Amino acid sequence: MSKIIKLHDKFFKHYIDAEQIDKAIDSLVSQVLDDLDDEEPVFIGILNGSFIFMADFIRKYPSHCQVNFVKLSSYEGTSSTGKVNQVIGLTQSLEGKTVVILEDVIDTGNTLAKIYEIFEGMNVKELKLATLFFKPDVFKKDLHIDYIGISIPDRFVVGYGLDYNELGRNLKDVYELKTDNMKNIVLFGQPGAGKGTQADLLKDRYNLIHLSTGDVFRRHIAENTDLGRIAKSFMNFGELVPDSVTIEMLKDEVNKHRTANGFIFDGFPRTISQAQALDAFLGEKGEIVNGLISLEVPEDILVSRIIERGKTSGRPDDQSEEKIRIRFNEYETKTSVLKGYYMERGKYFGINGVGSIDEITEAIIKVIDNI
Ligand code: AMP
Repeated sequence: MSKIIKLHDKFFKHYIDAEQIDKAIDSLVSQVLDDLDDEEPVFIGILNGSFIFMADFIRKYPSHCQVNFVKLSSYEGTSSTGKVNQVIGLTQSLEGKTVVILEDVIDTGNTLAKIYEIFEGMNVKELKLATLFFKPDVFKKDLHIDYIGISIPDRFVVGYGLDYNELGRNLKDVYELKTDNMKNIVLFGQPGAGKGTQADLLKDRYNLIHLSTGDVFRRHIAENTDLGRIAKSFMNFGELVPDSVTIEMLKDEVNKHRTANGFIFDGFPRTISQAQALDAFLGEKGEIVNGLISLEVPEDILVSRIIERGKTSGRPDDQSEEKIRIRFNEYETKTSVLKGYYMERGKYFGINGVGSIDEITEAIIKVIDNI
């Protein structure tokens, strides 16, 4: 799995490593040297983003040169505002000098236009421009760039001096904004609330994987695996399978679907530590739980639904009211606290789980379409 980092509210995935950047700078230095060997160029870094590029470039440059900076700014968040401001000006005269501007990244060219505007009025001998990264797909200006390090598609990148709202500049490698996020929904509710029925209907509509931990355990029991034998000793009595076993099993199941658009988790999480483990596990992949949808059904209706289901399901835990009561008790004591966990995070959505299957599906769709 490629490395994922989080800056503020966004996830970024590994894109270009430091070694490749180093090679690109070697190449830029030798191109500039070929052109300007007998000059004493003034290298001008465009702050803030270029400071690391500038430092590495200058240390590699083997001839006499001078260094200066200007500070320009056009970004807010992840998009260029289009308006470029000069925040700090030059502190030396450039008249008659050979000037090489060092930019970290050129995308729309708005900053570049401002650079040309600032430097062309200074009677320099020669003005050249080098950029470490260049985004040809979005470059709109008819302006010349003399040296290009690495051309990249139109992606928002951080690291190696580049930031997202001031974070990420210190990263040695470059990371790109992760945009291909999954949709992960937890279908929640007491036994018999209709989670399985609804998940089956929703998975095709949203092209998601329906992951029922109860179904996975039952499969293992049918196949008499080690995990099945452990699960059976709890399930048949209506008790929860221990967290450590359940969490590892869930991770394995999620990892089987590396290209999934997302998951409908049915029957997981059922405890706070399962919810925490799910957040951490998805976080490592740059993913989140988008929302928990709770199907709310009064207990007397649930009991009659389960007894009815028990006539055909063949599930031992559906067969007696005593086991059903144990399952409700497990829910009350260990699972119902999850409402608060997701509510605190603004991710709890309650739905009336009594009505026709279609009505309930419609109500869930309304929620999913808005998260
Ligand atoms: P279900 O099919 O969701 O009603 O689950 C049936 C049984 O499987 C539960 O009563 C538990 O014994 C076990 N089980 C399913 N999911 C979990 C979970 N997330 N944590 C612990 N046990 C679970």
